[in-house]
Amino acid sequence: MSNTLCNFAEMITSKVMEKKKRKEWKDFKFNLFGTTWRVHFVDFIPREPDEHPKYVCYGKTNDTLETITIAKGSPDGDKFSDEKISFTIYHEIVHACLGTGCYNESNNDEPLVEFIGRCLSSLVKQDVFEYAKE
Ligand SMILES: [Zn+2]
Repeated sequence: MSNTLCNFAEMITSKVMEKKKRKEWKDFKFNLFGTTWRVHFVDFIPREPDEHPKYVCYGKTNDTLETITIAKGSPDGDKFSDEKISFTIYHEIVHACLGTGCYNESNNDEPLVEFIGRCLSSLVKQDVFEYAKE
């Protein structure tokens, strides 16, 4: 095969593998202190009129409706990686936790929320919580 053909075959193979690797995100629910939270996935979260034209929202938590919306891409048509979507789920669940308790002030501390989300993601990947189950 010529180099061009090889490169083309490689490109197609990696595109197919990339597609296979992509997770199919499904809506789910969880219970937090008796409240049912619904998590749903959308192709993108539209920009609000007052937001910067390049602003990208990855996820939103609505404490009143007890819903979490997770974007799978941007309003510009970019697709987010599975890793980015996963981190966003952790991040938004931390928002739900802080909003449920009496930690609403901390709920606006985005670096804190992101840090706790990243910690949880790392611990879950290691199955650490298996040891903590009753
Ligand atoms: Zn946030």
